[in-house]
Amino acid sequence: MMVLGPEGSGGLPMALAIAQNLVCERRSGKKEETDLFAAPSMFGDPAPVAQDTAPLSDACGECPACQKAAKFIHPDIHYTFPVVSGKKTGPPVSADYIVEWRKALTENPYMNVNDWLGQITTENKQGNITVNECHEIIKGMSLKTFESKYKIQIIWMAEYLREAGNTLLKIIEEPPADTIFILVVENIELILTTVISRTQLIKLPAIEDADLAAHLRTQFEIDEKTALRIARISDGNLNAALEYANGAEHQNDAQLREWLSICLRIKGSQASEPSLKLMAFVDEISKIGRENQKIFLKYFLWFLRESNLLALGLPSEKLEDSELDFARKLATILDPEVTGQLNELVNKVHYYVERNANPKILFLSTSFKIASILKKEEVAYNKYD
Ligand SMILES: [Zn+2]
Repeated sequence: MMVLGPEGSGGLPMALAIAQNLVCERRSGKKEETDLFAAPSMFGDPAPVAQDTAPLSDACGECPACQKAAKFIHPDIHYTFPVVSGKKTGPPVSADYIVEWRKALTENPYMNVNDWLGQITTENKQGNITVNECHEIIKGMSLKTFESKYKIQIIWMAEYLREAGNTLLKIIEEPPADTIFILVVENIELILTTVISRTQLIKLPAIEDADLAAHLRTQFEIDEKTALRIARISDGNLNAALEYANGAEHQNDAQLREWLSICLRIKGSQASEPSLKLMAFVDEISKIGRENQKIFLKYFLWFLRESNLLALGLPSEKLEDSELDFARKLATILDPEVTGQLNELVNKVHYYVERNANPKILFLSTSFKIASILKKEEVAYNKYD
C-alpha cells in the first residue's frame, strides 16, 4: 500500500492505524483479511466477493497486540525511516535509531522529516534510506512472524529511498505470504514509477480547517476564533498548526497591521533615522523569539495571499471582521508586482530567521524594504542592510 498525503495530513498515523488494525486480536467483525486487499486481477477476473459481510471495525485498543502496537514495540511491525550516518560505523540503518523513533512517535506522529532529523542529529545532515536498510527489510520480511498472522513493514518518507528503491522492487512485487508493505509518502514525484505501479494507493486530503481548529481546542486553551485563525494559516497541516498554536498568545493580525502602517509612514527622502514607533516595533518583534517570528511571517504570507485575492477582484473565504477591513485597504495598493516582491522578501526573511539572523537588524532593514516596495520608490535603507 502507499499512503500519500501532504505534510501534516496524517500519513504516518494512518499507516500506524492500519498496522494496529491488522495485528489486533479482537477486532470485531474480523473477516478473512485477504479481503482487505481484494481487487480485480489485471487479467479481468472479478474481485473476490467477501463472504463475511460484517463491517470492519477499528482495532480494539486493549488486547496485548494493540498495546504493543501503540508502544511501537510489536515484533511483527517493522519500521524504516530516513536516518543519518554517524551513530555507528558503516552505513546507517533504521534499527540504530529505534529508541529515538519510538520517542518521536509518542510525542508527535504528525512530525515532518526535519523535526525527525533534528531529533537524531544536531548537524545539518541529509537523511537517507540506505541500500543496507533495504537488505535489512528483505531479511526481516523473510523471517517467520512472531505473534501475528502478518508481517508489516512501514516505510516512512519512502521518497528517501531514491535509487535504493530498486533493491525492493522484487519483494514489493512478490512479497512472501501475509507480508504487508505500507509506504508513507508526501511527494509521489520522488518515488520510482516501478514502485508506484506495484502499490495500492490511499490518498489523504489535507485536514479541513474546522477539524484542525476543533483538534487545537482539545490541546490548547485557546478560543474558537484563535483556533480557526491558526487552522487557516496551517494549510491543513496539523504539525504546523500545533507549532503555531504554541505561539498563539501573540496577536499576529494586530502586529502585522501595525508594522505595515509604520512602514507606509517611512519617508524615502528622510530615512536618516528610523522613527520611535518603528524602533518600538522592532524591539517588540525581536523579543518574541525565533519560533514566534516564523509564525508571524507565515501569517504575513497567508494574509498577503488572501489580500491579493481581493486585489484581483476575487472573494476571500477566510478573512473576516477587522482582518477583512485591513485586507481591503491593503488590496488597494497591491498589484501583481508588489505582491510578488513582498512574497519573495518575506520568504527570505523567514529563511534568515531560521538561520539565526540578528532579529533587530533583520526586521529593521526589512521595514525599509517593505516601505520601498509598497511605495514603489527608493527608500534609503542600505545602511541597515
Ligand atoms: Zn486489539
